[in-house]
Amino acid sequence: MSKSTTAELKTAPEAVNPFHMAQAQFDHIADMMGLSPDARQILRWPMREFKFQIPVRMDDGRLQVFFGYRVQHNDARGPAKGGIRFHPNETVDTVRALAMWMTWKTAVVNIPLGGGKGGVAVAPANLSRREQEALVRGWIDQIWRNIGPRIDIPAPDVGTTPQMMGWMMDEYSKRVGQYTPGVITGKPLPVGGSPGRKEATGFGVIYQVREAMKLLGMDPTRSTASVQGFGNVGRHAALGFTKFLGGKVISVAYYDNREKTPYTITHPDGLDIEYLMSITDIFGTIDKDKARAAGYRVEDGDAWLRQDVDVLIPAALEAQIRADNVHLISDRVRILAEGANGPTTPEADQVLAGRDMLVIPDFLCNAGGVMVSYFEGVQSDMNYYWTRDEVLERLDSKITHAFHEVFRLAQGEGLYPRDAAYVVAIQRVVEAMEVRGWL
Ligand code: NAD
Repeated sequence: MSKSTTAELKTAPEAVNPFHMAQAQFDHIADMMGLSPDARQILRWPMREFKFQIPVRMDDGRLQVFFGYRVQHNDARGPAKGGIRFHPNETVDTVRALAMWMTWKTAVVNIPLGGGKGGVAVAPANLSRREQEALVRGWIDQIWRNIGPRIDIPAPDVGTTPQMMGWMMDEYSKRVGQYTPGVITGKPLPVGGSPGRKEATGFGVIYQVREAMKLLGMDPTRSTASVQGFGNVGRHAALGFTKFLGGKVISVAYYDNREKTPYTITHPDGLDIEYLMSITDIFGTIDKDKARAAGYRVEDGDAWLRQDVDVLIPAALEAQIRADNVHLISDRVRILAEGANGPTTPEADQVLAGRDMLVIPDFLCNAGGVMVSYFEGVQSDMNYYWTRDEVLERLDSKITHAFHEVFRLAQGEGLYPRDAAYVVAIQRVVEAMEVRGWL
């Protein structure tokens, strides 16, 4: 590991093991549903895990060995599906948790895919473009035999970009000897990417916030939001909140890769999201001097959570809302839209369940990305591409349907929305395992 990696590890907010979190959530629902011991045994752990070295010759001539992972949690409903995360705190347990959440995500929105996830422990912003390319090609070199359009289909996540997906598709195609765009999604448009993919996760969050506001009788044009994270998910959620709903985003938090510190940019009258996007790098670090010059305030990294807003959108990393900070959330907040995976720990969740707040649970809320990844795979396999409007209309219609399925169950049975989403998802996975004869 590089020096910068160790420095970043020290800034980790709290030692929450995300896989323990994912298993605790699963156990709770398994008890509630009276799930059979056979189904529990299979679903509590991933079906397959790969851990490997990726040696990279760095620009200064040194050889640096990175650790890479791919975890396939369950593929009963279709090929495993899930992103690849490049982050200094990546461990097998973060990847296991994210892979398990992918199984529930593809099931809750009813697309014919399973759950997987991958990663590398690295701070990608510290790598040159050549080193990034060597690392992603090295990742494929180690795992190409175990992925594929009918086996496991990776995609981008935190710290990985469409360009990296393009390199991965190229490397895989060379290995198998044929152009295979369906092996990976989130690719750049000229090599089989889908229009609408980059916006999909953030817009999917906002389509559901719109539906939640209808349920609560809120006026979107008078609403305010605070967003944590200004990467692929956060910036498109913020954009959608202002463009589709006509609301104001009054604060956006991000992690400064150079200073290794989180900050929040705020303005009580609302931020100009397109301007902020123009001063943000590809890894989601905002140029705070330019933000200040535009008249915005630069506050500490927790400020996004304390804002007096109607909607909170955590869209950065897991375990950001915890027992030690959940009390900072204002009573005014009516909707928590979990753009990130696992942003709320089970302890904080218990506190939120007792409050008058509508929680759109992560694996439903951020499923727009995998939905359009699925559309991308379908288009790549057909070698025929839809327009951006067609993609976003299909996304809106399918994700809105999934939202209402979960909230109908939640209201009908008096369930916490996260529990209702788990029940829908687990039932579908178990049904697939049954008809395949696994149980
Ligand atoms: P990204 O790398 O594009 O952006 C991450 C953002 O979070 C950056 O702006 C970064 O500065 C910020 N950040 C990181 N640590 C922070 C901290 N401590 N405080 C404040 N900000 C912080 O990542 P992304 O693709 O936008 O993913 C964000 C979350 O959404 C992750 O949990 C990811 O697993 C989840 N997700 C992503 C997708 C997708 O399509 N990209 C789909 C579903 C879920």
